[in-house]
Amino acid sequence: MRCLCPTALAALLLTALPASAQRLPTIVTPSHYDLAFVVDLTRERFDGTETIRVQVAEPTLHVVLHAAEIQFREVTIGTGAAAQAATVTLDEADQTATLTVPKPLDKGVTEIHARFTGILNSQLRGFYISKTTLRKYAVTQFESTDARRAFPCFDEPAFKATFAITLTVDRGDTAISNGTALSDVPGPSPTQHTMKFSTTAKMSSYLVAMAVGDFTCLDGAADNIPIRICATPDKKDLGRVALDSAQQVLHFYNAYYAITYPFGKLDVVAVPDFAAGAMENTGAIFYRETDLLAEAKSASVDTRKKIASILAHEMAHQWFGDLVTMAWWDDIWLNEGFATWMANKPLAAAHPEWNVDVDEAQENQMALALDSLKATRPIHSDVTTPAQIDEAFDAIAYQKGAAVLRMVESYVGAETFKKGINAYLQAHAYGNATSEDFSKSIAATSGTPVERILPTFVNQPGVPLLDVSVACGNNQTAVTLKQQRFFVDPSHTEGGRWQMPVCVKVPGRATPTCEVMTEESQTLNIAGVCAPWVFANAGAHGYYRTAYPSEMLKAMAPRVGTDLTAPERLSLLDDEWALVRAGKADVGDYLTLVSGHGREHNSGVLEEVGRRLGFLHNYLTTDAARPRLEAFTRSLMRPLFDEVGMTSAPADTDDRRSLRATVIASLGIVGRDPDVVAKARTALNRALAGTAPIEPTQAGAIVTTAAIHGDAALFDALVAAAEKAAGPEEHDRYLYALADFRQPALVDRGLQLALTPQLRSQDTALYLAHFFGNPEARGRALSFVTSHWAALEPKVMIFGGDTNLIRSMSAFCDAGSRDQIRLFFAEHKLPAAERTLEQTLEQITNCIALREKQTPAVAAWLAAR
Ligand SMILES: [Zn+2]
Repeated sequence: MRCLCPTALAALLLTALPASAQRLPTIVTPSHYDLAFVVDLTRERFDGTETIRVQVAEPTLHVVLHAAEIQFREVTIGTGAAAQAATVTLDEADQTATLTVPKPLDKGVTEIHARFTGILNSQLRGFYISKTTLRKYAVTQFESTDARRAFPCFDEPAFKATFAITLTVDRGDTAISNGTALSDVPGPSPTQHTMKFSTTAKMSSYLVAMAVGDFTCLDGAADNIPIRICATPDKKDLGRVALDSAQQVLHFYNAYYAITYPFGKLDVVAVPDFAAGAMENTGAIFYRETDLLAEAKSASVDTRKKIASILAHEMAHQWFGDLVTMAWWDDIWLNEGFATWMANKPLAAAHPEWNVDVDEAQENQMALALDSLKATRPIHSDVTTPAQIDEAFDAIAYQKGAAVLRMVESYVGAETFKKGINAYLQAHAYGNATSEDFSKSIAATSGTPVERILPTFVNQPGVPLLDVSVACGNNQTAVTLKQQRFFVDPSHTEGGRWQMPVCVKVPGRATPTCEVMTEESQTLNIAGVCAPWVFANAGAHGYYRTAYPSEMLKAMAPRVGTDLTAPERLSLLDDEWALVRAGKADVGDYLTLVSGHGREHNSGVLEEVGRRLGFLHNYLTTDAARPRLEAFTRSLMRPLFDEVGMTSAPADTDDRRSLRATVIASLGIVGRDPDVVAKARTALNRALAGTAPIEPTQAGAIVTTAAIHGDAALFDALVAAAEKAAGPEEHDRYLYALADFRQPALVDRGLQLALTPQLRSQDTALYLAHFFGNPEARGRALSFVTSHWAALEPKVMIFGGDTNLIRSMSAFCDAGSRDQIRLFFAEHKLPAAERTLEQTLEQITNCIALREKQTPAVAAWLAAR
């Protein structure tokens, strides 16, 4: 699944039942499901008929399986003369049904037959209803624990089975499922037709998929595997960018994996209402429209990259997750970390100009930031309830999981790692696996101590910090490394010991020197060179932070632009920033490092610089110091702006377009450059009037800059433009810009929109999150959310909405707001965002301490500049 990063259970909360996702007994286990559904879109319900072939391990009177919001009509167990009617006892809290028969079931194979009805709910999970202005659709989203809302089942990832699905739908509609459509016949009633799909491979229940409606598809193929991109009829042609990507990605994966794509066909379906970003159902990936569809001619680099990246992520899941599945949700990183790590490979191969290695360094930073809090968690964490399972889809599972894989891949070598991956997939195909299974595969293939390295990152929370020092003598450099656990809040002192591959880059040397660090302190001797500085995270592949003495940083600074790669520069900047936050480095030294980036031509690294300047502008400057920070930002960015200009040329590379967007955003948003602000407003006015479109890659920066400095007339124009936007990207660009206005009256109007049908439930939390990013809107947004909670709660409780909203509140930096958030959510509990709330409160506290300590230092540095 792809969460909506920067990503529930409404009915559960409404009925106030704590669900414990009680693990099912293993006496009875499924091997095959025959499922038939009659879907009634008008009445928003369905009728189901099911036969489950099961293995009974020992004689029993009871079969326990999962069911939620399902009404059983009739249940029998057994075949022929041995069939017995079963009584059904429901446990709403545990979401289980216990089927009880009068005489014990014999050991061996038998069948459960059930007839039932269910509702097509409007909560975007289970089997649910999705709507456009024209009509309704029925769609499924089962991960993690919602297959049980569509049919009674053994709804745990380890209960793998095959599924044969039949769907009866209205005559004008079609249906899409995991299997290939085998037959399509009219009836049973004159207004219906019935489609039968091929039996799936053995898989987990959370991967079953059904979509019903008037979807239309673009057809393609890769390596003789049929690929379709499907959408509502009006959006069919917006699938071309995705189709090109899907073909390239599938071909790439077929070459990488020893097992070629195992599921026969691949359908990719854009759904009008979808809670997550996308879902990797076997052979039938479902998507939110904005993440899949785009105008081929006017899509920005970011959108093209996003579409390719999410497709590559979901398609990687067909192997990591669908073919080999984690045994339980405590190892969700085996799905999400792997798909996140893998997705970058086909992108890097097809688009070297996208600088995917810098994106990887950014992903690492996302994980390191979260993992430096006290309220972090280990990659492998116990989870029991559906809410805990939902919350485990976080940056630790995705980005830290991927970062650790990259570190190990870099340590054992890409080819060896690939062999280990394939050995792991082949050993567990159509089955389940654990973290230990994976470690063993890589260790066996590589002959390295990976099974000692990985557990220190998988089972232990937190980030290692390496203190680096050098000493020179006898024409050799002794690099001393000391490890300890890093916290943003230095008052935390819990220890940690990692076994980690460390690669040290020495100036003038082509290849880094690598060693596995096992001790608290270790010295690496590099012969034949007397180095004044070293860079202790070569390639930025290591999952750790580094701290250099200030004299080493001073020696390194003039060489950063030439001797470090873009990912290394990014990691150095972020490590130094983290040390400032932890009170281990001076903000002035950090600003000196930043001031050396005036010639930075990598958009990802420059974006990092812009982001930090934005933070300083928001939090660490007084009214008196702020204009100086703006002037500093202008002096840093203006030469680059003079080089790339405001408008693009047809020959511009994607990287140059991205760089221009970053420079405009930094100057417009942080630097308050009057020239750039005026140009942005003019360009936007022209675009809104239809006279000259904005180059799509820089449109985001231009619209945001204009909105920050915008008035009511612009606000009205953006509302209108969002409504008549040509595609999802343009729609979202205008809609989300409403959260950037600074005037209180416009902030309030923007917030009110969250209560109207203009905003889909799936977008509510993300939309509100934008207001918390706006310093002038933050306080009003908190009042709005708390005072309209009854109306907002059902929309925010959509999967990932709760965590996104709570996470966005970490933008506060004052005790009053922190305490208000704590009190409000103590009374209005969000079970799937409990840890996120703790993290948010911790981040606000950290920010308060940082602000108190560093604001005078920022002012002093700016004054002395
Ligand atoms: Zn995923």
